[in-house]
Amino acid sequence: MQLVYYPDPILLKTAKPLDRIDAEVRERVGEMFELMYSESGVGLAAPQVGWSARLFVCNCLGHEDRSGEKVFINPRIIDKGEEYVCEEEGCLSIPEVKGKVNRPDSLLAEYQDLSGELYREELFELDSRVFQHELDHLNGVLFLRHLNTTEKLLAKKILRELEKEHAEREASAGKGSGGRPRKS
Ligand SMILES: [Zn+2]
Repeated sequence: MQLVYYPDPILLKTAKPLDRIDAEVRERVGEMFELMYSESGVGLAAPQVGWSARLFVCNCLGHEDRSGEKVFINPRIIDKGEEYVCEEEGCLSIPEVKGKVNRPDSLLAEYQDLSGELYREELFELDSRVFQHELDHLNGVLFLRHLNTTEKLLAKKILRELEKEHAEREASAGKGSGGRPRKS
C-alpha cells in the first residue's frame, strides 16, 4: 500500500459508497493505520491510498495510544456547530503545504464502523477538524480549496513541483522498460 500524491486524479473524484465490509476491507484498514503512523499523520482517507471507497481512519491521540483508533465508513455530517475555528492543516498527499482552514469546531456525525453498525456521534475540536478534512477527501476536495489567496500563492511553487513529479512518474510508468531513464 502506497500513498498517492497531488495531483493524482483519484484525489479529485467522489469516492464510492462501501456496501460490503469484509476481511479484505479489514485488512486494508490495518494497512492504512500502519501507513498513517509511518507518515506521522492523524488521519488517512481511502482515496489517498488509491482506493475509491467512502472510508477513512484516524487517531487523534497519536501512534503511541492505539485506543484512539477510529474507522469511519460511509460517514456523513448530520449537523454542524455554529462556532468556527481557523487552524493550520496539512495533508499527507500534499507534502510541505500547510495553511489555515476555517471549520466548524463541532459536528454531529453518522457513520458505520468495521462491524457495519451505524453510529451517531458528536465530535469536537481536533476530532471534528480531522473528520471534516477526511470527509472532504471522500468528496474529491483537497484542503487547498479552503486556503486564502496568500496561502494559495505560497503553495503554488510546491504544487508545481508535485505536478512535475507526477508527470514524470506517469511518463516512466506508461513507457515501460523502453522509456526514458529517470533522472537521478
Ligand atoms: Zn489530507
